[in-house]
Amino acid sequence: MNQSTQRIGMLGGTFDPIHVGHLRSAIELQELLALDQLHMIPAQQPPLRDRPQVSATQRLALLKTGIGNTPGLVADDRELLREGPSYSADTLAELRIEYGSDTRLVMVIGYDAFLRLTDWHQPERLFELAHLVVMARPGYCDALSASLMELVEHRRVDSVEALMERPCGGYLSLELPSQMAVSATYIRHCLEAGKSVRYLVPATVEQAIESGKLYQRNE
Ligand code: ATP
Repeated sequence: MNQSTQRIGMLGGTFDPIHVGHLRSAIELQELLALDQLHMIPAQQPPLRDRPQVSATQRLALLKTGIGNTPGLVADDRELLREGPSYSADTLAELRIEYGSDTRLVMVIGYDAFLRLTDWHQPERLFELAHLVVMARPGYCDALSASLMELVEHRRVDSVEALMERPCGGYLSLELPSQMAVSATYIRHCLEAGKSVRYLVPATVEQAIESGKLYQRNE
């Protein structure tokens, strides 16, 4: 492999709101996979969940605030600019065109999202465009279904080096050092109940949520 071959990551999500579980994972992924850039991409209309209460534009603004000036992390609004549901395969296809066929392109998802991968739009196509890296997430340990095994097992590699030998098509399971048991659902519940979310989100995000009165129960 050419030493200068780029490594690009994509972490999609609802980011409703962005939290330290996302951000700390992003940093650790960047370091472990030696990524040049990690695109964090909020979904417009998440195909598999209800419409969030806070608008896509507000979620993007919180994501930008959370990232701040962290080197290598990019708040990428491409899915908000597209009509219709946000399919990761379409997003990866765009990134593949932008970065070229030789770039190592990695889609990262948490284990909870991974368990539902076979319900996604064109799951096979994801591997024609990118590698899949799955991060362990506290509280999620269900075994893989037979169909998920069939999708990923023959693609499995055991190291970052093996993954990066090719531009796409591999599957690597990772246990990141921090593994934070933080979820956006919990943060929304705290905010609805009027409880503190300090240290669950960056201070700047906490301030933006407060000043925008976001995620509060409507009286
Ligand atoms: P919600 O609770 O609303 O479902 P979430 O906290 O899971 O939200 P998402 O925006 O849905 O956040 O997550 C985006 C991606 O980041 C998913 O692949 C998810 O698995 C992963 N992720 C979220 N939180 C963590 C965490 N604490 N550790 C590791 N991965 C995470």
